[in-house]
Amino acid sequence: MTVAICPGSFDPITYGHLDIIQRGAKVFDHVIVAVFNNQSKSPLFDVNERVRLLEEVTQDLDNVTVDACNGLLVDYAKEKNAKAIIRGLRAVSDFEYEMQITSMNRKLNEEIETFFMMTNNQYSFLSSSIVKEVAKYRANISDLVPPPVEKALKEKF
Ligand code: ADP
Repeated sequence: MTVAICPGSFDPITYGHLDIIQRGAKVFDHVIVAVFNNQSKSPLFDVNERVRLLEEVTQDLDNVTVDACNGLLVDYAKEKNAKAIIRGLRAVSDFEYEMQITSMNRKLNEEIETFFMMTNNQYSFLSSSIVKEVAKYRANISDLVPPPVEKALKEKF
């Protein structure tokens, strides 16, 4: 059984993330969505809220589970017996950062391979930050995030 980790902040999950998770779940036997607590990003939702929203929007995907994580991604992957990390790429601007992280992860554990999936064109502009920014001004975000996330954002602002 090939397990893949789909790591990120998911603050909050958008249709862009969901698309990557759904496509990954078609390729790998089990996808673990790992929510990392990146304090330097000053998250809007705490880890438990992010996990709960992810669980709600992925509940129809039988081979997807959600977990909260701390520490190094490669250590977590090893602990879960995962051979792969899945990341999404939106634009050239993502590339440099992803290359740096991937090179470091390979140096730390060369048994774990990182796979990149190109964004679906319709989501190439979509990020959690931009969603939070427009949600603040009560713009319509129904085509950017799943309904439970839209509701949670309305409650925050
Ligand atoms: P991080 O804080 O690790 O960058 P994010 O939650 O911002 O985590 O993103 C998690 C993953 O999802 C990253 O690989 C990111 O490139 C990818 N991703 C985010 N938004 C999109 C999108 N609109 N299309 C495709 N991939 C995306």
